[in-house]
Amino acid sequence: MEPRARRPSPGSPTSLKEANQARLIEALQFAGTMTQAELSRFTGLAPSTVSNIVRELTTSGLLRVSPTVSHGRTAQAVRLSRGAGVLVAADFGHRHLTVAIADLAYEILAEERVTLEWDHRVDDGLAEVARIMARLLAEAGIDPALVVGLGMGLPAPIDSRTGQVGAPSQLPGWVGVDAAALATERLGVPVRVDNDANLGALAEDRWGAGRGADNVAYVKLSDGVGAGLVIRGELYQGSIGTAGEIGHATMNEFGALCRCGNRGCLETLVATSVLLDQLAPNHGTSLTIADAVRMAHAGDVSCRRVLEDAGHHVGVAVANLCNIFNPDRIIVGGELAQAEDLIVGSIRRALKRQGIPSAAEAVSIVMAELGARSHVLGALVIASSGASPEALGAVVRDTVEADQTLLRTVEH
Ligand SMILES: [Zn+2]
Repeated sequence: MEPRARRPSPGSPTSLKEANQARLIEALQFAGTMTQAELSRFTGLAPSTVSNIVRELTTSGLLRVSPTVSHGRTAQAVRLSRGAGVLVAADFGHRHLTVAIADLAYEILAEERVTLEWDHRVDDGLAEVARIMARLLAEAGIDPALVVGLGMGLPAPIDSRTGQVGAPSQLPGWVGVDAAALATERLGVPVRVDNDANLGALAEDRWGAGRGADNVAYVKLSDGVGAGLVIRGELYQGSIGTAGEIGHATMNEFGALCRCGNRGCLETLVATSVLLDQLAPNHGTSLTIADAVRMAHAGDVSCRRVLEDAGHHVGVAVANLCNIFNPDRIIVGGELAQAEDLIVGSIRRALKRQGIPSAAEAVSIVMAELGARSHVLGALVIASSGASPEALGAVVRDTVEADQTLLRTVEH
């Protein structure tokens, strides 16, 4: 979409008003829903200014206001209206794809999860996103023109300089591709891409187990192992976007060969496929992690041993992370998080033994709260951050203009 030619001179009443409107819209893009008092605190705008902007933008159709209860008192909850746009999330895992449609307050309107071959080609992966997105929009009765952004999560490092999907990737068919550019071209909407552990970190920090903490590390323990680091609400990506690759921390220089080409990485010890291979002689090849957790709780010694040892290895790597990064909270997510205390207990014990006492005492280790939703919600966050307040306003203006054209057509 071409940017609109609206350039009032700086400092004029119109530009000040538009700047204030943009601040308020950005606050709602960040939080989803806020009361007028919260908007005033968050933006630093006077309550009367907030009230005026909310009234005007509600009349124009950009905002929606509904009664709520805040601190025991009745208040007005403000959110961006569905007419202002919708967001799409596409979360790729090792063997699955989840596509979700949400409004700008991050309320999920439709969602579908399908299985996908891990060695699929990038063209096929994107075609699948397009098919599911079109179907979900049609089923929910949403005009595809209302999609203001799509956030995509990939189980791979993404080079922030070139946008290229790096190695090692759990999706080899995507390596070397500028995924955001290609997806924007194929899907016809602005697409932003990030590593799935980074997206989990963003969502847990904002709505889940990271709330109230300043420095958070989200550790994803699935078939791929990675971490997302959030410092005071901002994702820390490092110089080229690959920070947090804890899955390739060297645990044993002469250990098993890793898919990254190195030896003895954390992932070679704790990837879910590695744990299930270890259990196969005792329990067969159709065992799942959920089965192993259930059997461990029921007293099966081998399942308990494998899960606790995995927790120990993760704990050693987390102790190194704590010594260097000194976070106040570590959030454990991904498929292995189902093992809860079996994993977290042994992470805590290893951290106590391996971490420097002051860093180990300062950090709390907690379970992720958003489960499988965390990557989808994180993808919605980057989808929304890519949509400018001007673009959201433009959708409403276009819709209003289209409605008026339609009315005129009907009238004549
Ligand atoms: Zn590795």
